[in-house]
Amino acid sequence: MSTPAPLPRVVIVGCGFGGIEAARTLAGTPVDITLIDRTNHHLFQPLLYQVATAGLTSPSISGPIRHILRRQIRNGQLTVLLGQVVGIDAGARCIALADGERVPYDHLIVASGATHSYFGHDEWAAHAPGLKTLADALHIRQRLLYAFELAEREAQDAAARESWLTFAVVGAGPTGVEMAGTLAEIAHHTLHEEYRRIDSRRARVVLLEGAPRVLGAFPETLSQRAREQLDALGVEVRTGAQVTHIDDQGVRFRRGKDEPEETLRARTVIWAAGVAASPLGRELQRATDCALDRAGRVVVEPDLTVAGHPEIHVVGDLAAAKSHAPGREPTPVPGVSPGAKQMGRHAAANIRRRLRSQATRPFHYVDYGSLATIGRRSAVATVQVPLLGQLRFSGLFAWLFWLFVHVYFLIGFRNRLIVLADWAWAYFTFERHARVVPEPLATMPHARQEHTWAEPVEPEHASKRA
Ligand SMILES: Cc1cc2nc3c(=O)[nH]c(=O)nc-3n(C[C@H](O)[C@H](O)[C@H](O)COP(=O)(O)OP(=O)(O)OC[C@H]3O[C@@H](n4cnc5c(N)ncnc54)[C@H](O)[C@@H]3O)c2cc1C
Repeated sequence: MSTPAPLPRVVIVGCGFGGIEAARTLAGTPVDITLIDRTNHHLFQPLLYQVATAGLTSPSISGPIRHILRRQIRNGQLTVLLGQVVGIDAGARCIALADGERVPYDHLIVASGATHSYFGHDEWAAHAPGLKTLADALHIRQRLLYAFELAEREAQDAAARESWLTFAVVGAGPTGVEMAGTLAEIAHHTLHEEYRRIDSRRARVVLLEGAPRVLGAFPETLSQRAREQLDALGVEVRTGAQVTHIDDQGVRFRRGKDEPEETLRARTVIWAAGVAASPLGRELQRATDCALDRAGRVVVEPDLTVAGHPEIHVVGDLAAAKSHAPGREPTPVPGVSPGAKQMGRHAAANIRRRLRSQATRPFHYVDYGSLATIGRRSAVATVQVPLLGQLRFSGLFAWLFWLFVHVYFLIGFRNRLIVLADWAWAYFTFERHARVVPEPLATMPHARQEHTWAEPVEPEHASKRA
């Protein structure tokens, strides 16, 4: 009796939006899938800022990969491996994990996403954390919440207190705008009345943007609406501000080439400005000689494969892909979750076609629109409606639409329910329930740690209020 031929091996690197859609699309296809991720969870990045600002807990916006894909694992089609991919050997058709294990493939889908770019100033990373992973979000949450605590400790030094109560957000894309708006709400509503020596409502939130307007990817009218909504929340917006230096005392920036450098003393700086492709882009270049764009993304063929390697697909934020709509000039695919999902599905479908000896198809991105929220009851939205074209709206209706879309796309019924309940509670009470920080103050390297004997302090703010 002859043994059946082994199934084609598909290896997927990364279980973000692109990777998970590729794995799901291949369900039922006669292939043996290995999905590798450096974490054990799939993360819904669009709501990361809510974890960073204590509105939601980590499990509400993430889920264990094994649990999400348990049916494919149970059916014997899928193996999930926890590991950091560090190398690709395109000749031997295998990938290498950090611990030395090599995983062979017949078809490879690389979906390892993006990371922060500090525009050549990696030393800023220590002072201005960016937001990409759950670990980043929890780190930022600690810094934000402890900044208020440290301001309360600086009752006698007004300048030091002010610098703890000044928050700089660099980059006014959707993440920067969401962070700044929510921070202003925390300072003005959530924490107000919980401190005795400081008035949290005096906190400054400064949003620095190099471009002339906030939310530069949105139409100008919506940028203007967003700006007005930020102003209403008390966020100080500085557009045309090129950051020149960041350290543990704050940010320096220049508003124009010939303008003098301005210094903003801010002990908490959040980086929401630059995005660079995952380092696996460089590794793919080394392995296949493929081209990279300026952000380090892999320039892919119309069918999302690497030039000269029809067995290697790159999808999601790592791919510099173009949309090939019939009868139109190809246009770049934006680095957003619908783009990653559609690419993941497309790569999987093309693998299926190749297995049936059919020609692969070029990728066509369907743009449904864009959303960004600024704070409670304020958001901006563009939505593509068939026959009507692009609809643009802002304010309460855009915010409700934003809520609906984000809850709808969250993975897992339980997560949807919990997020809805948390948001409803927060809406009526202004509370942010995820404020418990497990790490002690000593884990914040830039906090005051030295021991000196100081004078006892009276609770000034409390006596003023009484
Ligand atoms: C804060 C934030 C807010 C956002 N908001 C929105 C939004 O509102 N709307 C929107 O459409 N898009 C938004 N985006 C963009 C969107 O999340 C991305 O476009 C999308 O996640 C890209 O999907 P991906 O599969 O390419 O990468 P990711 O979803 O980032 O997944 C990459 C996966 O690869 C894994 N990985 C990386 N390197 C390795 C390695 N070497 N070995 C093993 N595993 C590895 C990671 O752990 C991760 O699971 C946001 C992004 C961020 C960071």
